[in-house]
Order: sequence, then structure tokens, then C-alpha cells
Amino acid sequence: MPTTLITSEIGIEAEGKRSGYLRVPHSTHRSAYGWVPIPLTVIRGGDGPTVLMLAGVHGDEYEGQIALGKLTRDLAPDDLRGRVIILPMLNAPAAKARMRTSPIDDGNLNRVFPGDAAGTPTQMIAHYIEEVLLPTSDYLIDLHTGGTSLYYPPTLLRGQGHTPEEANKLRVLQEAFDLPYAWVFTSGGGPTSTARTAMGAANRKGVTPVMAELGGGGTVSKDVLALTERGLRRILHALGMLPGYQPDPARGTRVLHAEGLVYAYDAGLFEPYKDIADTVTTGEPVGVVHMPNLPLREPVPIASPYSGIVLCKRALGQVECGDAVFQIARDTGEA
Ligand SMILES: [Zn+2]
Repeated sequence: MPTTLITSEIGIEAEGKRSGYLRVPHSTHRSAYGWVPIPLTVIRGGDGPTVLMLAGVHGDEYEGQIALGKLTRDLAPDDLRGRVIILPMLNAPAAKARMRTSPIDDGNLNRVFPGDAAGTPTQMIAHYIEEVLLPTSDYLIDLHTGGTSLYYPPTLLRGQGHTPEEANKLRVLQEAFDLPYAWVFTSGGGPTSTARTAMGAANRKGVTPVMAELGGGGTVSKDVLALTERGLRRILHALGMLPGYQPDPARGTRVLHAEGLVYAYDAGLFEPYKDIADTVTTGEPVGVVHMPNLPLREPVPIASPYSGIVLCKRALGQVECGDAVFQIARDTGEA
């Protein structure tokens, strides 16, 4: 057992469905012997792979948190071949505060892997995932949204696979999740990954990872939530873990590579000229920044350094220098 100060109220090896907390020790003014509760459920029914499912890595991203709660309640061990380990609000202090980062240590959980067993609560959580839970897992599904500041259409994120076998597994997961878009990374992955994300941690541990961006802007979308719930069951079915589930026909995925981000350089209110999936050409104005405090000043245009389509947009109207307003991607030509 690797060194960790986090303890689990439930074992992860037994059969059946059990739920409890990971206890992250956190001694504070109001609770000297207290711990931060991270909800954890393990559902196991017979032989099969282990899938680690995460949401609430960023606390202001909601569809995944809701979908994993529903899956936790709906899945019966008898329906399952294998094991799911479900953590629906992994950075619980951030989720409780409905913030991207944790208010108790300012930690961005998806930027601190491999974490630190003796670090801040956010670092301890990352370390526990990388050193305790991932080594017992075959697949990672990490559910995100654009958070408060960004909006993504339902999009699967994956690597290309560092072996032909892994590339095949990743395509199976993409086809099973069946989201409208997939953003395929052209670099990184494999056991030498230095990424500070949960996907990087999974790659280091030989676990096949996918991530999803499922809406954003601090909202919950009925349609996106439905796609998320459907996708999770379709993945379990595709892995042979939900033999009784009847998947409906696949709708297809537009596969993209990211070109880059378009940034604001001025503070003000951003008027977008583009929306999700709109075509953009290099040098084209994609919006303007208005300065309503200076009524006679003309708004400042923002030109795209890239050609492609809009994959992601800023969800907040207010911008400052350094804020991303769009992400541009291009079709890979893959079906
Ligand atoms: Zn996120």
C-alpha cells in the first residue's frame, strides 16, 4: 500500500454495492480532528474490467456530477460484469463551493497530478487517485464541462493511443460514448507522460483514459445530461460489463484536432461573431471587445490566428487581457 494519509470507509475489493467517504485529513480552526469527505461508491458484480469514473475534479462542472449520481443509484451489482469505482465530486471542497478550484488550498485538481501524499488536500486527492485507485483500474472516465468560464458542446477527449492495442480501445470508447464531437490529442500519452492531469496520471499507470467536456457556463443542460447518461451505459456495455443493456443506434462523432485558442487582449465586454461549429479563417475577426465606460471608443476586434471551426467558446461576457474567447479545431477526416 503506497503512503497516503487518506483513508477509505469502504474496501474496493468486495462484491456488491457499497458507498462511503474517502477521509482527507484536514485540521482546521472549527474542526481540529476533522476530515474532508469525498463520496465514493464501488459496485462490483462478477469478473470483468474495472472502470474508474470521476466527476467534480472541477467543482463548477455539473453534468458529470449528476450523471454519476444517477448511475450510482441505478446500477445493480447483478447487472454488472466487473467493477465501477465512482467518485462524483472528487474535489469535494471545490464542488461544495461550486468553484473550479478548492477554496481551502486554491488547488486546481486537474493541474496537480501526480500530487503529494503529504501536501495540501487537493494534492493529497491527486496522489490517492494516481497511486491507490488508478493502479487497480483498467479504464478512466473523467467527466468535465467548460466550467463557469467556457462552453463546450458534448466532446470526448482522448489520445491517439501509444500502442495499436490502446488506439483500438480508445476508438471503442469513442464510438460507445457517441458524443457529437471528439478532440483527439496529437501528442502526449503513454507511460512517460508528464501531464499534470488525471489523464496523464492514467497514462503513467497503464490505464486507458478518456475525458469529456459536457457543456459548461455553470449551467445544467437537459440534452447534454441525457447524452452523458446514455454514453456511460453504452461504454459499460461496449466493455462487456452491462450485457443486459440495449444500446440504440450510434449517431456519429465529428473527430477534431485542436488548432489553438483565441485570446482577448483588452478588458471589456466581448461580442462574439461566431458560435459553436462555425467556420473561421485565419485573420478573420471573430468578435470585438466593447468598452462601455468609453462610449466614443470603437470596439477592438479580435482576429483568429487559426482556420477551422469553433469547438469551444467563452461563456462569460466580460473579458480581460489573457482570457480565451474561442478554441479553434479542424476536422481530421476520420469518420
Ligand atoms: Zn474541468
